[in-house]
Amino acid sequence: MRKQLSMRIQVLWILMLCVMFCSCVRNPVTGKRQLALLSESQEIAMGQESHPAVLSEFGLVDNAELQKYCTRIGSDLAKVSHRPDLPWHFAIVDSPVVNAFAVPGGYIYITRGILEHMNNEAELAGVLGHEIGHVTARHSVTQISQGQLIQVGLGLGSIFSSRFRQFGGLAQMGMEVLMLKFSRDHENEADQLGLKYMADCGYDPEQMSRFFQVFIGMREESEQSIPGWLSTHPTPPDRIRRTSETGIRIKQQSARQNYIIDADTFIPKLGNLVYGENPREGFVDNNRFIHPDLRFQMDIPAGWKVENTKSSVVFAEPQGGAIVELTMTPPDAGKSPGDVAQAIARSEGTQFLSGGSERINGNPAYLGLYRIQSDSGNIGVNAAFISYGGHIYQAAGLAPEASFSRYSRSLNNVLRSFRELTDQRLLSVQPDRVKIYRARKGDSLRSLAKSIDQNRVSLQNLAQINRLDPDQPLSAGTWVKLVQLGKR
Ligand SMILES: [Zn+2]
Repeated sequence: MRKQLSMRIQVLWILMLCVMFCSCVRNPVTGKRQLALLSESQEIAMGQESHPAVLSEFGLVDNAELQKYCTRIGSDLAKVSHRPDLPWHFAIVDSPVVNAFAVPGGYIYITRGILEHMNNEAELAGVLGHEIGHVTARHSVTQISQGQLIQVGLGLGSIFSSRFRQFGGLAQMGMEVLMLKFSRDHENEADQLGLKYMADCGYDPEQMSRFFQVFIGMREESEQSIPGWLSTHPTPPDRIRRTSETGIRIKQQSARQNYIIDADTFIPKLGNLVYGENPREGFVDNNRFIHPDLRFQMDIPAGWKVENTKSSVVFAEPQGGAIVELTMTPPDAGKSPGDVAQAIARSEGTQFLSGGSERINGNPAYLGLYRIQSDSGNIGVNAAFISYGGHIYQAAGLAPEASFSRYSRSLNNVLRSFRELTDQRLLSVQPDRVKIYRARKGDSLRSLAKSIDQNRVSLQNLAQINRLDPDQPLSAGTWVKLVQLGKR
């Protein structure tokens, strides 16, 4: 988690407003008129409004040079696209999940996870071109008009208050709407558009299908906090063949002699990027949630699941019977834990039952019991507001009122376990980072990986990010992405 409150609910409202202004617009790619919910200016507004939410959810990769590089390549592609005049934005978000996504209005995001799987600039152009294609062909816009917003609308109907998130599924709804799963037809169309845009910019269009080989045999971890490419971009088996054929055909039909691939510029830029989860932003150690950057720890009930994002951390009972969500309250929420608690008690749909000020492990705090009314039954809330390290943390333990007593002890124990982190070993953990290496004659990935602890980063992972067979002899000068293990 990071130092901002989630803005997901705001995104939902924006989407909801969009639903009310349905109109018919001309598709920039096909030229046909189609029913779409958003006019171009509404699309742009949606992108602008969602951008802060995306940032609060993921954060940006802290590397200005790399961001500028990605923006330059993306902007060149956008210029040759069907909608060159949109206010295009490109950003690398700080997530190890392998994905890329586009928000209407021209906001394109790729994760550092997907970037680390790329081998050259043309592959990056292929992925950016594909996402640009989703925007130019207005896929999200038509997708949203095809039912997603109905779901969002249902979700919105049951938000109990602006302060507490809906118990259960809503927490991720905002991001899920931004990361729509596209239909196969839309995927194909985005591939074809991306191939055209990249070739028009001089990139070798055959590199797109090469990159898609990354997804062969890739499995997504079901517990990751956001969906990966495989779940948002259906990859049928013939996709690699189709994009490869189109790439070859484009080259045959073009008078151009040389195409850009450019690993030499691209690969060194990945050096020192964080690889995998960044433990500085929170990790689980012995049934405790540890946050080295914010210097706190909290106990997790045995067997509960943990979902950590930039804006919150959620502990969930395995059957979903109860959750604890820890966030930071925004500076305008109140100056003291008591102020924040009072503001919560006044919020609509929330009933204050009891509470009072006390200290939690030495930190000024307010503990309160609340009832939240919802259409699907009342929710009991045990909340703690804790002043620590210059922030006020909000830990909310929620369970349906009917079964609240079953969980109240666990919830209370979790809230009261918030405390300073003093263990130097845990405070000083460092993330793993990409290390760039140029192969010498006789090297293989297996020989190079010898010094890397396989329990931390497996040979298969290295083979996957490099798309190299572990025993393949490397020719001198081949770029290899290795991993420098961080302190644990
Ligand atoms: Zn796609």
